[in-house]
Amino acid sequence: MRSMKHRTLTGLGVLALTAGGFAAVSGHSAAQAADRNGKCEKGEFCYNFNSDLKGAWSDFTSSVGDYGTTQPSCYDFKGKAKGHGKCIKNDAGGFWNKTNKPVTIYFNSGYAGRSVTVKPGAKGKLPAAVYNNNASHRIGKGGGGGHNPAPSGKWASPVPSSAVITARAYYSSGRYHGAVDYSGFNGKFRSACNGTIDSIAINRTYANRNAYGVTGSTNYLWVNCGGGIRMGYAHWYAKDLPSSLKRGTKVKAGQNLVNVGNQGNSSGQHLHFQVERSGKQIDGHDFLQSKGVKGLPRE
Ligand SMILES: [Zn+2]
Repeated sequence: MRSMKHRTLTGLGVLALTAGGFAAVSGHSAAQAADRNGKCEKGEFCYNFNSDLKGAWSDFTSSVGDYGTTQPSCYDFKGKAKGHGKCIKNDAGGFWNKTNKPVTIYFNSGYAGRSVTVKPGAKGKLPAAVYNNNASHRIGKGGGGGHNPAPSGKWASPVPSSAVITARAYYSSGRYHGAVDYSGFNGKFRSACNGTIDSIAINRTYANRNAYGVTGSTNYLWVNCGGGIRMGYAHWYAKDLPSSLKRGTKVKAGQNLVNVGNQGNSSGQHLHFQVERSGKQIDGHDFLQSKGVKGLPRE
C-alpha cells in the first residue's frame, strides 16, 4: 500500500530518485533511449509540433493507443520549442521514426480509422491522412490497416513506461504488500483491462489529504475484467474522481481513470495496482507482461 521511499530505495533507489532522469544514470545511457524527454533519440518514434521538425518533440519507445486530450494527463510536446506543453492528439505536424520498425499512425484512438505506415528512418511532414489528425500509433507489426486486432488490446499498462516500480508483492522489509506500486509519474493512471467498474470505495475521513501513517483509509477503484480477473487502483483523491466513473461503468484497456494521488495509507504519490485472479492476489506487473502488454515500466 505504501510507497515508502526509504523502504524501497534498496536496489531501486537510484531509479526512484531520478525518475525523469532515467537514462542519465542508467549506465547504458548511450544505447537506451529515454522516452518523454523531449529529444528524439535512436530507438524512438517521435512527433514534432511543426512539419519542419523545428518545434517541440514528443518521443516514444512504445506504442500508445490513446494520447488523452487534456492536461495534465495527455501526452504532450516536451522541451522549449514551439508547441511545448500542448497535447499531441490531432496537433502533430511532423514525425521522425528512429526505431528500426515500421510505425503506423492512426486517425483514431485505439489503432483505428485511416492510417499511414512510415518506414524506419523516415522523417518530415506527417502525411496528409494524419496531418494534425493523429490519435494513436503502433510501433512494429500489427500496423497497416487499423483493422488488425491489437494482440494485447484487452490489456494495457496502467501507467506510462517512464514510471518507476517502487514495490512488488513483498516490500524489501519482507512484509507482504500484495500489489505493485508505480511512482514517478503524474496525471491519470489507466485501466489495464477492458472491463466494468464493480466497486468504488471512498474513505471520506481521509478523502483529500495525505494521511501519512493512517491505516485502512485508502480510496479504491476496482474493475472486473472478466475471466476471474479483477484489478484495483488505490491512493487517488476523491476530488479527482471523474463523475463519468461509477459502479457499472464500462472501461477500456488504456482508458484514463483518475489522477495518481497520495491519499490514505501512502507516503508519496503513487498508484497501488492490485490484481486478483479468482479472489487471490497475483502480481499485476507479471500478469500484464504475460499478456504481452507493451509500454510497461522497466523493472
Ligand atoms: Zn501499495
